[in-house]
Amino acid sequence: MKNYRYNKGSAAARDLLHQNGFESLLDFPLELFASGLGATVIEKPLLNSDGRIIFGKKHTIIEINQNIEFEQKKRFTLAHEIGHFILHKGIDIHNDNEATTSWFNNKEKQAKSGRIEYEANQFASELLMPSTLFFEKQKGKKFSPQLLRDLATFFKTSITSIAFKYFELGDHPICLFHSHNKTVSYWKWPKGYPHFIIDRTKLEPPEDSVAMEFFEKGKIYAKHQSKQQIWKSTWFDLKNSEDDNDFKFFEYCIISTTYNSVLSIVWEE
Ligand SMILES: [Zn+2]
Repeated sequence: MKNYRYNKGSAAARDLLHQNGFESLLDFPLELFASGLGATVIEKPLLNSDGRIIFGKKHTIIEINQNIEFEQKKRFTLAHEIGHFILHKGIDIHNDNEATTSWFNNKEKQAKSGRIEYEANQFASELLMPSTLFFEKQKGKKFSPQLLRDLATFFKTSITSIAFKYFELGDHPICLFHSHNKTVSYWKWPKGYPHFIIDRTKLEPPEDSVAMEFFEKGKIYAKHQSKQQIWKSTWFDLKNSEDDNDFKFFEYCIISTTYNSVLSIVWEE
């Protein structure tokens, strides 16, 4: 496996699986796993919250919003709460929503709250997608939006969490850009990536990007068209000696209409 380094969150999930004799939880109900650990899971309608954890003196309750539309997202939220249960005993009632389960919390990384969320996300990612298994599943396959969708089906988790796992472990280097309300908030690129990304933090996405097509025109491509060719110069710095025609870059957007946000996955072939 590509020199993958476990961090506090992912190592805790890996150890927990091993201690309980699981290679993965693909065939085991997550609610049952949680209750085996001592947390009761309840699904009910929650206001402004995807999930929350209530630490009691004797019992811990995890509540998951039953109105979450996608099962995979429910599953990821539950795994995130189990992460809090294992790693963060002692925090009071804790609410999670789109912001706290979001992957790009760089600006809050220094703050304690941001670190806790980061750890819970890393935990959830490893619990649902054990790194060795994920690596094996994607190995040798050509990168495409369909590959991410296939992995999401196999691992029964959200396509966004799959994209971030692929970023860490996948064979093909990909870049990730997150835009919210027509503003680029964060981006990530692999170590040693040969192309230089133009810093657009707090600016609009490039006007010829697929992300901008969504914000300006509400365009959402159907599955079979979700891989869109773009110019290198769309997201990257084009050097004087370079010609846009010599590069083949693609953008695939994971869109959340509810939060008016776009995760752009950009790669070169
Ligand atoms: Zn949380």
